[in-house]
Amino acid sequence: MIKVGLGVDVHAFEEGRPCILGGVVIPHPRGLTGHSDADALVHAIMDALLGAVGERDIGHFFPNTDARWKDADSLHLLAKVRETLAARKAAIHNVDATLIAQEPKLAPHLPVMLENLSRVLGIPAGRIAVKATTCEWMGFVGRKEGVVALAVACVDTE
Ligand code: MG
Repeated sequence: MIKVGLGVDVHAFEEGRPCILGGVVIPHPRGLTGHSDADALVHAIMDALLGAVGERDIGHFFPNTDARWKDADSLHLLAKVRETLAARKAAIHNVDATLIAQEPKLAPHLPVMLENLSRVLGIPAGRIAVKATTCEWMGFVGRKEGVVALAVACVDTE
């Protein structure tokens, strides 16, 4: 059976934090704030994958009250989500994601994000898409207060 899941995540910028998206440390004066490494792209993809198999959200699996996930590498958490899907015999078919950020410029980093996601999800990069767009200077993204990530995942399960 083919199943689809949706994931959405938002993180705010903060001084003194690294800016990590798709597992790439992006040179930028401000990073993203959160309990883990605040990788909004990976978080949205995790929620899309969990949603596709009818699981609860990442806040349930990796609560921000748990010291284990403090500054956690979100690619490591994504690997755990992959294990959850494997245990349910759900094969990841494809993932499509979009980052919305006024800054930093994301396009130069998309190929490495794809490599990271392909490696951790165990599917060819050709089955993963990561796009980037701005918010045309409107709203909190346009004011450079934070970023939004959206993802859908398609899985094949029994
Ligand atoms: Mg998050």
